[in-house]
Amino acid sequence: MSTVDPVTPVLTKRWLSPRSWSIQTYEQLEGYTALRKALTATPEQIVQVVKDSGLRGRGGAGFPSGLKWSFMPPNEDKPHYLVINADEGEPGTCKDIPLMMADPHSLIEGCVIASYAMRSHHCFIYVRGEVLHCIRRLNAAVKEAKAAGYLGENILGSGYDLEITVHAGAGAYICGEETALLDSLEGRRGQPRLKPPFPAAAGLYAAPTTVNNVETIASVPYIINGGSDWFRRMGTEKSPGPKIYSISGHVERPGQYEAPLGTTLRQLLEMAGGMKDGIPLKFWTPGGSSTPMFTAEHLDVPLDFEGAAEAGSMLGTTAVQVFNETVSVPWAVMKWTQFYKHESCGKCTPCREGTYWLVQILERMVDGNGTEEDIDTLLDVCDNVLGRSFCALGDGAVSPIQSGIKYFRDEFLALCQKNREKNRKPAMAGAN
Ligand code: NAD
Ligand code: SF4
Repeated sequence: MSTVDPVTPVLTKRWLSPRSWSIQTYEQLEGYTALRKALTATPEQIVQVVKDSGLRGRGGAGFPSGLKWSFMPPNEDKPHYLVINADEGEPGTCKDIPLMMADPHSLIEGCVIASYAMRSHHCFIYVRGEVLHCIRRLNAAVKEAKAAGYLGENILGSGYDLEITVHAGAGAYICGEETALLDSLEGRRGQPRLKPPFPAAAGLYAAPTTVNNVETIASVPYIINGGSDWFRRMGTEKSPGPKIYSISGHVERPGQYEAPLGTTLRQLLEMAGGMKDGIPLKFWTPGGSSTPMFTAEHLDVPLDFEGAAEAGSMLGTTAVQVFNETVSVPWAVMKWTQFYKHESCGKCTPCREGTYWLVQILERMVDGNGTEEDIDTLLDVCDNVLGRSFCALGDGAVSPIQSGIKYFRDEFLALCQKNREKNRKPAMAGAN
């Protein structure tokens, strides 16, 4: 029997229904009932329900969603915008694209409710340009919703108008950072802006804007229908609600698993059929490659915002990447660091130069040309990137290195010692 708390599938409940992405299936399974309910309430009442539910951002940072919505000004001197961050790009993170493919209308219904609550009349969904199939599906769903009166002018006779624009990004990881995303949406090269001002004060076209992740907004219709107390019955006190955990790597059944926040890796492994071929676990990430890695000692860490942080990592995007004993930690760390170096936008020196030097050293080590001193040099460069970079990309880039050396220093050392042996000069014949 499963040891996972029983949870009615919430966010994934329609995923296995025939043509789950169509408006017909969505409507048959309670779709757009939350919107009807929301339009009879005031925007302030909706913001309050979301605040009471304790919903926290599902894009990685976990900022309280209702609080973020409440930062939007009450007047409409300037247009207000809701922007959905669907630029999912963190290595291992793969929950939003399946959600948009299987159940695009849950995102659209959430967008209409959230836009109404924030007095916005234009919502943008910024999607990774590489996932053309997802962009097509969203565009088709927007068309269906408009034809059915859930979008456009005078939605369901309420007098409220909203347009949704699906925008394709161009494949830069940095455009998942909310202000770089806004720059990109405005037609500029995507680079992070200085915060404050936060987007609620000056966002898209310098107007009040809220940027929310796909899974966050797709949770809203369920909160409106079920109520904040129902939502709080799942998860933990400070991290309530259900969550989609993406499990990849050496497990029998990789995929998306919905469970309450606070579920442990031991429970998730059980859901995913255990370690592949029974080969033991060596290391894993709780929420994508920018979250410090864990080891087999952390099987019972509750995967919620507080639990992951107390154990020395972060919940991030709940992208659980599982690696067995056959994987070399320095090699995996090198691959992740190559990714960050490639995706560094170049705006600030610590990240631009730091990721370059980190890759140089790691590649040298993995190629068998490193020295023992390289381990401390790596940590020194990490110290000069962490907390000194302009945005979270720099901090994220050093997480795999620092945590990899923390738990597996011996493995880094062994690589360098092997190299010292290889380079030792043979003793000269006849020498003492
Ligand atoms: P952040 O903590 O700076 O901000 C989170 C959100 O809260 C933002 O929308 C921000 O505007 C808002 N906010 C924070 N403080 C505020 C304040 N004082 N006033 C008003 N609004 C405020 O985090 P971030 O840099 O946006 O995101 C970092 C996270 O992104 C990481 O934890 C990482 O896990 C995650 N991430 C996700 C992906 C992905 O593919 N989904 C990729 C990379 C990183
Ligand atoms: Fe660009 Fe990296 Fe600096 Fe972020 S930390 S602004 S990605 S160079």
